[in-house]
Amino acid sequence: MSRPDRPAYDLATLAARAGEEARPNASTPLIEPIYQSTVYSFPDLETLDRAMSGEAPAAFYYRNGTPNAATLERALAQLEGTEAALAAASGMAAISAALLGVLKTGDHIVADARVYGVTYALLTEEFPRLGIEVSFVDACNVGEVEAAWRDNTRVLHVESLTNPLLTVPDVPALAALAHARGGLLSVDNTFASPAVFRPAEHGADLVTHSLSKYLSGHSTAFGGVLCGRADLVALARTRLLRLGGTVSAFDAWLTLQGLKTLGLRMRAHSGNAQALADVLSNHPRVRAVYHPGLSDHPQFHRALDLFPQGFGGMLSIEVEDAPTFVRAIAPRVPLAPSLADVVTTLSWPWGTSHRPLPEPERRRLGITPGLLRVSVGIEDIGDLLNDFETALG
Ligand code: PLP
Repeated sequence: MSRPDRPAYDLATLAARAGEEARPNASTPLIEPIYQSTVYSFPDLETLDRAMSGEAPAAFYYRNGTPNAATLERALAQLEGTEAALAAASGMAAISAALLGVLKTGDHIVADARVYGVTYALLTEEFPRLGIEVSFVDACNVGEVEAAWRDNTRVLHVESLTNPLLTVPDVPALAALAHARGGLLSVDNTFASPAVFRPAEHGADLVTHSLSKYLSGHSTAFGGVLCGRADLVALARTRLLRLGGTVSAFDAWLTLQGLKTLGLRMRAHSGNAQALADVLSNHPRVRAVYHPGLSDHPQFHRALDLFPQGFGGMLSIEVEDAPTFVRAIAPRVPLAPSLADVVTTLSWPWGTSHRPLPEPERRRLGITPGLLRVSVGIEDIGDLLNDFETALG
């Protein structure tokens, strides 16, 4: 009986190399596989040199980016309508890299006072240690932004839909102001997603997201992304890679699966949130509803103008007795301090997302201990309304 020809390797050699030398590739996987390899092999020094110099970009080492991260970056740049994108290990890594890419010691940044709590902590506790100063403003008041601008102001950072009261800054006006003063506009677009708002189309220079929210959509993937001009993304990439903030291949891959249904999901999220906001705003046990699609919302007309395809799935409410309401609804609508899952969840901004803000500042912004944020899912709207009405009753 003949045996297949093979070199007479020791078992240890065989175990290390077996199977890798002849991978069948007559067909192509429909969905990109997960590239878990931490390093890539090259046939010669010239090819490796071209990869390392960026002349012929190719994956070479995991921290510098996996093929899955590169695919995700291409997808997100297309969705946000930007030249380039940079995937990161978290939303905070993306925001930090975006801002550190363009700020240096002696610079000043203006930010909306309503930014996410950890962004607030980054700006108030980390940046001053690097000699970067911050001023907070009400970004819905363009005059206030203008008054805060200094000669050394480099960046204005806002959220396109703020957390948790869903205010809507005038991104086109803020971009025009920043550019007229020689600065950049940075927009955290996490709450909106590019399915309902694309800040770069309105002049934003840096657009960031937490991937664990609408982009992935199922509370299973973790990461962040910066989308923007190629030169600004390249500056951020250098910072991010040195700080070690690479997204994992698996999280990039999971986000790519989530992205495939972003359009469908956002239509369902937006429709359900609008319907729930309409019903709750007429409920006797609900004191206040914050949603940009309600005609009494302070930026209702601007929101209609900027978000013609709907306002996304977020709203906030004040009810008569928040602790009792949460206990009553939690078995069906869980209390979970994140957002944008396909299932509806509740969050408590006072004690979670905005905890890093001093108590008086939270109260000044309208973030009270009784305020609850609702991330409206894609369930049947009749069932959802029933859950809320039962818990309120
Ligand atoms: N921006 C907003 C609006 C957020 O809500 C969050 C997190 O909840 C972040 C940024 C930070 O993202 P990550 O948790 O992925 O670091």
